[in-house]
Amino acid sequence: MQAAESQRYRAITRSNLDRWPEARLLAPEHREAVDVVGRVLPFRTNPYVIRELIDWRRVPDDPIFRLVFPQREMLHPVDYERVRSLLAEGASGAALSAEAERIRRGLNPHPAGQLTDNVPRLDGRPVAGIQHKYRETVLFFPAAGQTCHAYCTYCFRWPQFVGRPDLRFAARQSDELAAYLRAHPEVTDVLVTGGDPMIMKTALLRRVLEPLLAADLGQVQSIRIGTKSLAYWPQRFVTDADADDCLRLFEEVAAAGRHVALMAHASHPAELEPAIARRAIERLRGAGVEIRMQAPVLRHVNDDPEVWAELWRTGVRLGMVPYYMFVERDTGPRGYFELPLARCHRIFTRAYRRVSGLGRTVRGPSMSAQPGKVRIAGISTVAGERVFVLEMLQGRDPDWVGRPFFARFDPDAAWLDDLEPAFGEERFFFDDPEPADEPAAPMPALAIVS
Ligand SMILES: *Cc1c(COP(=O)(O)O)cnc(C)c1O
Ligand code: SF4
Repeated sequence: MQAAESQRYRAITRSNLDRWPEARLLAPEHREAVDVVGRVLPFRTNPYVIRELIDWRRVPDDPIFRLVFPQREMLHPVDYERVRSLLAEGASGAALSAEAERIRRGLNPHPAGQLTDNVPRLDGRPVAGIQHKYRETVLFFPAAGQTCHAYCTYCFRWPQFVGRPDLRFAARQSDELAAYLRAHPEVTDVLVTGGDPMIMKTALLRRVLEPLLAADLGQVQSIRIGTKSLAYWPQRFVTDADADDCLRLFEEVAAAGRHVALMAHASHPAELEPAIARRAIERLRGAGVEIRMQAPVLRHVNDDPEVWAELWRTGVRLGMVPYYMFVERDTGPRGYFELPLARCHRIFTRAYRRVSGLGRTVRGPSMSAQPGKVRIAGISTVAGERVFVLEMLQGRDPDWVGRPFFARFDPDAAWLDDLEPAFGEERFFFDDPEPADEPAAPMPALAIVS
């Protein structure tokens, strides 16, 4: 049974961590890392994660601990020492924030203007909260869904997306989404993402989803919700005050003839162990929701084929569909979590070989890169040259999908940008595209991590 206090959501942060008995299980150097690294990277967890998911006997190697608690090695030693000494000197909050901001800029070199360039236009005006990169699918970022029940230390999105969680704003945003969809009948899927949209109360989520069920929006066949709540707060679907309302809402969407897919961010089989997580899965499935699983492959967390094979096997048994394995993207404490592409491919392949065909609905490892979702389909030798065989699962130009292409093998490459075309070619085919009749909306990639 769950401890009673685990049933009510409470954010655990740097400032209240010591009120929890589990904090005493942290060795001094790990407690210090929370204070120091937690100034720079997000730290937020909750009683369920620290009581039910983290196995404290395995700390610091426990995968969920590594995923949620800031670790010393996530910062460059010089940066770590700077923040540590500022704290030791009792430096002002302003000095600490300035230093944290300086370090963040170095970790997360977003090209200037990315947040504004990504936004599509309607009647010449930018539409807030929407991204439209691949023809069939629009991403929707409701302002009220831009935090999470706990933060993954590898995620860098939360500080940029903190929104205004009020009903009127959600309603206006949702009206704009509906107007955009009416102007774009080619869109069949809406992917509601964040942050984590399941942080929203059901009443707010209803404001987001209901307008999509309008009779003249029959084009919207699938509504997906990207979420880590099954892992970090399954109570959302079981014991929260509006859990039942949430399931009723999903039932209504399904009854309106739309496919409801919960895109569950599932990093490790430990997340599927607790009874309440299983109950949440059962209840969601009972409400007609399809659950698909996706997550990045991360060093220190799930860089082991058996972990993935078990995740997919367990998922299939519980009625979920393995969907994507992602490559960790080029941001945040990437050095800590990064794996070379060759290693990602090996982990994927070994895991894929260990599951039955029902688990092989998964695709990956895939990079959500600038031109599209690029899958490492294989490593091979062609005409004496060692190459990565690559394939686009999604393309900024839909015609790019499914065209195999080749990069020179490089054991250290960890992202598409590190790769060079094979066979002495000057560029990849998408670097110099033939002009398409209808150019896709020009938008850089954004990680879909939830
Ligand atoms: C991954 C992704 C989608 C969804 O792609 P599917 O292959 O349909 O799952 C949509 N938009 C963006 C920007 C994405 O990265
Ligand atoms: S990776 Fe997903 S669940 Fe984790 S903090 Fe980022 S948005 Fe939230």
